[in-house]
Amino acid sequence: MAAPSSSSDTHVEDIVDEKTSKDDVTFSSLGLVDVLCESCEQLKWKVPTKIQREAIPVALQGKDVIGLAETGSGKTAAFALPILQALLDTPQRLFALVLTPTRELAFQISEQFEALGSNIGVTCAVVIGGIDMMTQSLQLAKKPHIVIATPGRLVDHLENTKGFNLRALKYLVMDEADRILNMDFEEELNKILKVIPKQRHTYLFSATMTKKVAKLQRASLQEPVKVEVSTKYQTVDKLQQSYLFIPAKHKDCYLVSILNELAGNSTLIFCSTCNNTQRVALMLRNLGLMAIPLHGQMSQSKRLGMLNKFKGKMRSILIATDVASRGLDIPHVDCVINFDIPTHSKDYIHRVGRTARAGRSGKAITFVTQYDVELYQRIEQLIGKKLPLFKTEEEEVMMLMERVNEAQRYAKIEMKEKDEKKGKRKNLDDSEETIGVRKRMKGKKKK
Ligand code: AMP
Repeated sequence: MAAPSSSSDTHVEDIVDEKTSKDDVTFSSLGLVDVLCESCEQLKWKVPTKIQREAIPVALQGKDVIGLAETGSGKTAAFALPILQALLDTPQRLFALVLTPTRELAFQISEQFEALGSNIGVTCAVVIGGIDMMTQSLQLAKKPHIVIATPGRLVDHLENTKGFNLRALKYLVMDEADRILNMDFEEELNKILKVIPKQRHTYLFSATMTKKVAKLQRASLQEPVKVEVSTKYQTVDKLQQSYLFIPAKHKDCYLVSILNELAGNSTLIFCSTCNNTQRVALMLRNLGLMAIPLHGQMSQSKRLGMLNKFKGKMRSILIATDVASRGLDIPHVDCVINFDIPTHSKDYIHRVGRTARAGRSGKAITFVTQYDVELYQRIEQLIGKKLPLFKTEEEEVMMLMERVNEAQRYAKIEMKEKDEKKGKRKNLDDSEETIGVRKRMKGKKKK
């Protein structure tokens, strides 16, 4: 493998090494009580990850922690376990608040708290935008132990929900702080910091230490200890990366051909816009492929539904915008396809980091058209190596042309029909008119 780029802050961590080395360190030797060690065992976690080895003992000493780590490192448990242990010591309602940038992450964090706290009856509430305020108010009225929230919606509740406050809070976690700040949640963060006790424990986790994160750290943490996972700036060995140089007009055809070849694998396809994500999903579904979309214009419940179908392996192809490239823990992806090349080369690393996780192997294929050459060269520069060409038989691919053209045409009609019916904010569900178009298409194919 070529020399890794040391100029980048972002990287795909080799969590494999981290999870399998230092076998002598156990959850118990980090200072965790038996009931929590048992939870880890039930989750089949054999040894703590590096970030857990470093952060947990410091946190158990009662210190504030800055953790430089990304999703995939085991960072959620690195803050959740010490909080649960403190909760066991001094049980209290509205004990901890976890702030996180996205709705999906909020649910993932809540799931981990619930799994790790299953033996001690911990209760959590997820407070995020896109879900009915009233339902959330009722959840908050029950005073859960842990609140996991996106900053905007939490401020809304702090200002408008009668009887809800966080004046007794003992722990604050700011997860993915760089992303929270990049999403312009600074004002909301400041509002939250003003209404929670100054006397508290604070954990700040971030993939990168930006200027804004450093400022937030100074404003909100007291004598923090910094812990960092290994900064190996490289993609993992078991990731086979390649590219495909093709004319833009034949992208769909090549995609279908590759997906046919990859049948049986779970594949994550990245598109650059919501519209293209939706179009590609419809086109593939018209060809009978089990594809589902995930993008920012879908309702919250739809996004979660789609993600769960993919996670639960009920669908094998997920087409997503970069909303899904960071943060989401989708452990079983076999292949990542960059259908639209990422505009920011660092996004390439985040995207391909969705595969070859936890010791498995994985493939990443990047489509490069006549318009993408410069962007592709930047990616090669960033990862510090030249990638091999993905082998395809042009003649075989072109044989798919007629069917693909037809599927494209129907996808266009479906999108137009949906747009006309519901305005621009569309979800890719199997609504009646979609099924109708598909039936028409199937009928046509039979003839
Ligand atoms: P996170 O970085 O917190 O999003 O965690 C990434 C994934 O690693 C999640 O699916 C966790 O369930 C899993 N995980 C966390 N800690 C461990 C561990 N010590 N051993 C194995 N898997 C873990």
